Amino acid sequence: MELYADIILDISHSSLDKTFQYRVPESLAKILEPGNVVEIPFGAGNRTRTGYVMGISEHPKIPLEKMKEIQRIVMDFAGTDSKLTALALWMRDYYGSTMAQALRTVLPIRKKTASRQKRTLVRLVSEKEAGEILEVFRRKNQKARARLWEALLVQPRLPYEAATGGLGVAPSVIRALEERKLLACETDTVYRRTFQAPEGGETEKKLCLTEEQEAVIRGIAEDADPSGKYLIHGVTGSGKTEVYMELIARTVSEGKQAILLIPEISLTYQNVMRFYGRFGERVSVLHSRLSQGERYDQFERARSGDLDVMIGPRSALFTPFPNLGMIIIDEEHEPSYQSENAPRYHARETAVKRGELEQAKVILGSATPSMEAYYGAMQGKYRLFRMRNRPGGGQLPRVEIVDLKQELRRGNKSVLSRLLYEKLEECLNGGRQAMLFLNRRGYAGFVSCRSCGHVIKCPHCDVSLSLHRGGRLFCHYCGYSQPAPSKCSECGSPFIGSFRAGTQQIEKLVSEAFPEARILRMDADTTKGKEGHQEILKAFGEHRADILIGTQMIVKGHDFPRVTLMGVLAADLSLHISDYRAAERTFQLLTQAAGRAGRGRDPGEVVIQTYDPEHYAVVCGAKQDYEAFYRQEIAYRQLSGYPPAGGLLAIHCMSQDQEKLELAVSYLGRFARQAAAPRNAAVMGPADEVLSKINDIYRKVLYIKHEDPGILIRIKNLMEQYISMNEGFQGIQIHFEHR
Ligand code: ADP
Ligand code: ZN
Ligand code: ZN
Repeated sequence: MELYADIILDISHSSLDKTFQYRVPESLAKILEPGNVVEIPFGAGNRTRTGYVMGISEHPKIPLEKMKEIQRIVMDFAGTDSKLTALALWMRDYYGSTMAQALRTVLPIRKKTASRQKRTLVRLVSEKEAGEILEVFRRKNQKARARLWEALLVQPRLPYEAATGGLGVAPSVIRALEERKLLACETDTVYRRTFQAPEGGETEKKLCLTEEQEAVIRGIAEDADPSGKYLIHGVTGSGKTEVYMELIARTVSEGKQAILLIPEISLTYQNVMRFYGRFGERVSVLHSRLSQGERYDQFERARSGDLDVMIGPRSALFTPFPNLGMIIIDEEHEPSYQSENAPRYHARETAVKRGELEQAKVILGSATPSMEAYYGAMQGKYRLFRMRNRPGGGQLPRVEIVDLKQELRRGNKSVLSRLLYEKLEECLNGGRQAMLFLNRRGYAGFVSCRSCGHVIKCPHCDVSLSLHRGGRLFCHYCGYSQPAPSKCSECGSPFIGSFRAGTQQIEKLVSEAFPEARILRMDADTTKGKEGHQEILKAFGEHRADILIGTQMIVKGHDFPRVTLMGVLAADLSLHISDYRAAERTFQLLTQAAGRAGRGRDPGEVVIQTYDPEHYAVVCGAKQDYEAFYRQEIAYRQLSGYPPAGGLLAIHCMSQDQEKLELAVSYLGRFARQAAAPRNAAVMGPADEVLSKINDIYRKVLYIKHEDPGILIRIKNLMEQYISMNEGFQGIQIHFEHR
């Protein structure tokens, strides 16, 4: 039987979706697989080029006499590209996208980068002199100079890109300092590095590990399964990072490489330096500020054996290591591990797949594991390890829940409950710091009763309805809508409405209540500038303010020893967003927030304000009781068929043309129902997305629910076919997503 392979040429240009068919020679017929890298004759001159096998079939698409033959399979030293292409194929099939999109996600685009010149800034004056110069810059309020000089004071050599990129220093400033002979700019033609390792190589002292840490390390490192999967559930501060470092060290000593994924927001200088201290120049770090060329360089270093460890956000997962031994995902519950572009892959699932393809162990770590991970552990998919103690000491803070309904009954309509007001006063009088956390996630917009706490939910989907302009309530899962009521259906109270409080408003109210206090605010507005985020944190860390008010950003992993009070202003803001994950997110945020207070010597206190003080996400979050939360949440998921108890496929449709979108989505919905009915899957929608229009692009969504994700993939495949065969879908962007 003759076989024909669809091949795309190397990934260097944009016409990736164009495949060429080649004959498979008999010698390769039994071994050729999709994902293989092959050499093929191409063009009129039959120049040899490399290509990727996308699929193999028995059907020729072009006349046989015109078809050329594959020359050979390329065995790059470890077949890394083949394995990554195989991963891309899986991603295309599982998540739904074009092969080009999948390949672009997995393999870095080979782009002609200018010369690979590494420029390094070198401080030319002594540390003492440099310190004096820094004072001068500061006094003259020369901020960029001071920033650069501060960095050069700590480390006398700094990559040029770190200065212009991370520190945001203009080249003209660097030139000025160069002219004053304060620094020199050295040029070196090697791969660019992303962070400068400290001088003196591996300096980080290995801590004496605790019993608990040792047990986890032994359990994982000595497990005979080369593609074993593990979940470490360890409270914040339980020393997970030490465990990761030791596991990575053991992997490296076996001649293998490791990838550590961490959320971008945790990519702090201190964190990264711990790894440089331990692994020296053999570690590299990816972050979102790198240019495509820089990213490509790091991947090339990994491919060529120049690196052992790659640290970075989601996309670092695709580092082309020749002999990958381990993938670790820290804070695996973070939503940023899911891509927002097609293929909308999740790093957790994709890491597991890559681990299976390449025989690498996969380790998930979190203080508040995602429902998916913990459910997986309960089902035996991941081996579960627990870390309950903090080797560095520190006890959990005292948490109090305030019922805002009672506050209202007592006539207090302010954003600060009496208790929180008193605690703030006490905290400020004691010269300590407080954080006020507004756990606004996206756009809340739900409607609730301030007297009895009742929240209006969709009668079909068990998620909150959201209020839209014009006063109607909508469900963003199924499209159900109803007028907003003027009084509560449960208790008759007229105090019913949408809950929209902004940080700016809160700042104003708090400054009226505490006119003496110095207040800083951190939200999307105040952190717009490149360094806004770091600058605010720094100012607060140096006690240049007493109260920090902010959104999620303030609760992630920052240690402020003087903070003894954390106020959660309205836990409901994340509790009632129209998302089946609302309770899970709230629990995670409350646990994180509680973990912020009392990092120093003074014990911490947390006040959680809510209209729903009995909600299990609030109660368990306050107690930091993960297991209790999990038991109740999984019961809800099982009852309602939401993941991880069942599969939920979202089909996001976007277009500038609203009418065309409406029509296409209604056809797609009809087709989905036809495809779903014989398979007993439920279709919800079409409905407007929570954000129904962004940048003039209209957005609608369909959901399909079935307990078996395999069925969802089959339905997705049918829909993909349907979409590709109908011209009505041209100009409409369609993304599939496993929710
Ligand atoms: P996690 O990542 O679990 O939140 P970290 O690894 O950051 O925790 O550790 C928290 C703190 O405990 C760090 O300051 C770390 O240096 C310290 N620590 C970790 N392991 C040990 C140990 N075995 N002995 C002493 N201190 C430790
Ligand atoms: Zn009510
Ligand atoms: Zn609904």
